[in-house]
Parts: sequence; structure tokens; C-alpha cells
Amino acid sequence: DKYKEGLSKTRQSFSSKLNDLVARYRTVDEDFFEDLEEVLISADVGVNTVMALVEELEMEAKRQNIKDAYELKGLISEKLAEIYAGDDFEVTAPLNLQEDGLSVILFVGVNGVGKTTSIGKLAYQLAQEGKKVLLVAGDTFRAGAIQQLSVWGERVGVDVIKQSEGSDPAAVMFDGIQAAKSRGADVLLCDTAGRLQNKVNLMNELSKVKRVIEREIPGAPHDVLLVLDATTGQNALIQAKTFQQATDVTGIILTKLDGTAKGGIVLAIRKELNIPVKYVGLGEKMTDLEPFDPQAFVYGIFS
Ligand code: GDP
Repeated sequence: DKYKEGLSKTRQSFSSKLNDLVARYRTVDEDFFEDLEEVLISADVGVNTVMALVEELEMEAKRQNIKDAYELKGLISEKLAEIYAGDDFEVTAPLNLQEDGLSVILFVGVNGVGKTTSIGKLAYQLAQEGKKVLLVAGDTFRAGAIQQLSVWGERVGVDVIKQSEGSDPAAVMFDGIQAAKSRGADVLLCDTAGRLQNKVNLMNELSKVKRVIEREIPGAPHDVLLVLDATTGQNALIQAKTFQQATDVTGIILTKLDGTAKGGIVLAIRKELNIPVKYVGLGEKMTDLEPFDPQAFVYGIFS
């Protein structure tokens, strides 16, 4: 399936390390658990999750009197999935789509993380579900951003509301909303500029764009999705914190999970930021975007 395919790098790196560990120890002792911690941390699972997991495994090994490392290995994926789902989050976090009327989704994130691609993929999925989708080319700053979104629009058969490069993003957003209203669109997917070099500008621009949306449609935006690149590892966490200060992020799209051997970052992000991961990108194709499912993820990196 999609998860298994997209996570093959993480799985290969992770399972070879795990198999080495099991072969090296045969019987479990304290050193085994310490080395296991290292293996998990090297997959970017996140220190807190790793600690909780290993503690749980040690207790379970005692409880069931498991001495054989191979036998314990079988418990790891089970416990990881349990720990992961056992927190405050719902197992999956769907989009906050309105049953009636227009839903507005704002996409934020730095350049190169896969924002445009994710908008295109999501537009494709929503259109497939029979929704009338419109895109707003709100990144008027980066050269080529408008054109790139237009290409995705054509590819998935969805119109793009745009102005020329350098124009006011808030004005483009206003246009987008008017177009969505007059055409009776169900979902408006809005791109934004992703420059982080100037944090103050970014914040000002985002809040201006958001104000336009809030004023035109009470209750909107219904989702603010932060796009993060899994291959940037711990850097993604730092970016997330910056964006959290700039705006109310309601969900994360974690892209390029297929491009990293450290896919455990998705667990760290969700645990440590307290923001649900709503989608994961598992490839470059239109169909390579999946709702994040922790259970499928955990089994994807183990089996
Ligand atoms: P933006 O600057 O944030 O809009 O980034 P783009 O959407 O242009 O994406 C940057 C690059 O990442 C492109 O080459 C995309 O094809 C690639 N990309 C985006 N999402 C994924 C993904 O989930 N997996 C892989 N392998 N590549 C991706």
C-alpha cells in the first residue's frame, strides 16, 4: 500500500538497525534497552516518545517474563502504535470542511517544502470527491510561484485566481473569495508566500491575508495548514515554532516522507508541537498525499 511504499527508506534503515540489535543481544538486558533507545532516536522518533516506549517495553518484558530479544521485537510496533494513539489526539485528524457553504483553507510554510505540490494534490482529491475547488495564488513574492500553481490547476482541472507577480496578496485573496462566492465553490485552497528571512514581514502579510478572509467569511479560515518537509528533520520543528508564533496553525502537512530514512519525525512533530498532522506526502505524484494515520504509519515502518 501507499504507506509501505512511501516509507521504504525509513523501514529499511530502521529494520536493519533493529535486526542488528536483536542479533547482537539475543537476550534482553539493560544495555539492550539503551541501544534500542538509540536506534529509535536515530529515526527521529522524538526523545519523549522514545522514553515512554522503552519504559513501557521494559515493564512489559518483566510482566510477560520475556528474555528473548527477538520475541521483544514483536512487541515494539504494537506498543509504539498504542503510545501514539493513547494521547489526546484523535487517531486521524480530518480537514475542518463545512457541510454547507464555502470552506477556506490557508497553506503556510517556507519555500521548497512542497506547499504548491500539496495544494495541487489536495485539490485533486477534493475534486475527485465531487467538490468544487478553487485555488488562490497568494504567493505573489516568489518568482514562478503563480505559474507553478497554475500548472497544477490545469493538471487537476481546477481554476486558479491570480494577479501579477508583486501584487498585494490580500487583494488576491479578496478576489479569490469573491470568485468562490459567485461561482458557488465548496473549497478555496489559498497559497501564501513562504519567506522566513524576514519574520516581521511574514507575520504582517499572513495576518493581513487572514483578516481579509475573516472579514469576508465569518468563521474562516477553517484550516491553516503548515507544510513541513520531513527531510529537514529537526529543522522542521524549528520552522513550525516560528509559524506558530505568526498564526494559528490548525494542522500540518508533512511532505517528502518517502525521501527520508528518518520518518519517525512525524511522531515527534505531532507529539512535540501539539498540532495534528493531517496529511503526509509520500511521493511527487498527484495521488501521493494520504491522510495521516498513525497506525498505518507505525506498521509501515515495521513490517
Ligand atoms: P513549495 O516551494 O513549497 O511550493 O514547494 P514545491 O511544491 O514546489 O515542491 C518542491 C519540490 O518538492 C518539488 O520538486 C516537488 O515535486 C517535491 N515534493 C513535494 N512534495 C513531495 C513529496 O511528498 N515527496 C517527494 N519525493 N517530493 C515532493
